[in-house]
Amino acid sequence: MSVNYAAGLSPYADKGKCGLPEIFDSPEELDRKVWELAQMIQSSSNVVFHTGAGISTSSGIPDFRGPQGVWTMEEQGLAPKFDITFESARPSKTHMALLQLERVGILKFLVSQNVDGLHVRSGFPRDKLAELHGNMFVEECAKCKTQYVRDVVVGSMGLKATGRLCTVAKARGLRACRGELRDTILDWEDALPDRDLNLADEACRNADLSITLGTSLQIRPSGNLPLLTKRKGGRLVIVNLQATKHDRQADLRIHGYVDDVMAKLMKHLCLEIPEWQGPLVVERAPPLLPLLKQVKAELPTLPDLPSAPKTEPPAHRHRPELEGGKREQPPAPRLPKRVKVEPMPS
Ligand SMILES: [Zn+2]
Repeated sequence: MSVNYAAGLSPYADKGKCGLPEIFDSPEELDRKVWELAQMIQSSSNVVFHTGAGISTSSGIPDFRGPQGVWTMEEQGLAPKFDITFESARPSKTHMALLQLERVGILKFLVSQNVDGLHVRSGFPRDKLAELHGNMFVEECAKCKTQYVRDVVVGSMGLKATGRLCTVAKARGLRACRGELRDTILDWEDALPDRDLNLADEACRNADLSITLGTSLQIRPSGNLPLLTKRKGGRLVIVNLQATKHDRQADLRIHGYVDDVMAKLMKHLCLEIPEWQGPLVVERAPPLLPLLKQVKAELPTLPDLPSAPKTEPPAHRHRPELEGGKREQPPAPRLPKRVKVEPMPS
């Protein structure tokens, strides 16, 4: 399926402000701001990230309200360009950086408005992720609510039947549930999924730092969730090229490409951005390694060196050492337990 997700939605008049001019911080300003962001992360104990379509444009998926966005083009009577499929899109540097931030315990929860499935396909644990507007690869049983993450998009939108039935075996019995499977993609007027919205809401209230990436924060309620962190005394950072609805509430605004911002940030935090190895689905985050304290301890405290890190990335710090002939056991690698993408039944 082409990435023209928007074409499958009902017509809707109020799409918010589209095509606002893009703002670019100077290179020096960008360095200073990302350094400040690294320090804010260092001094926070509960960081939540929020992502919008702007983090997937470098993966080839158009956004909605950017200069080439789907709704911006529509306003001008033009059709957006699509030259890839959801299945062939690769997670961006930003997706992979977020995955790593979760693995080391810095990112506590991720709230996304994106339906492209790239967070899940990057291997980001689903129990730490709220997909507020659905996922093109996920279908859900109307009866028992079991979700299936497929290796191709499920083919319908607007919470409609996909034509497949639930195969979950009923307890003790041999018969399958056979409930109707439906897509998870919201249309304009659909209510947000309870589970995802509740988790996101709670995570934002508990956070002391909310960081938004690539979203103009215009869609409610998703765009208002970061404000919950502010209301509870936390801080808000907005990373976006265009002005957003909540710029005035932000403690820090960064105007730069999200991939550049995340690459700089990861250097400051002495973390590598992992390479994507192909689609993989992780249901639950594995137990955490004690890396966070080390990351924090090794971040310099003065804001005067926005330069490359000198320390080794934390992932390599657990080499076993030989002491008196006895090998010290390194902590078990934090690898996902359950890895699967369900093939689409024929
Ligand atoms: Zn079922």
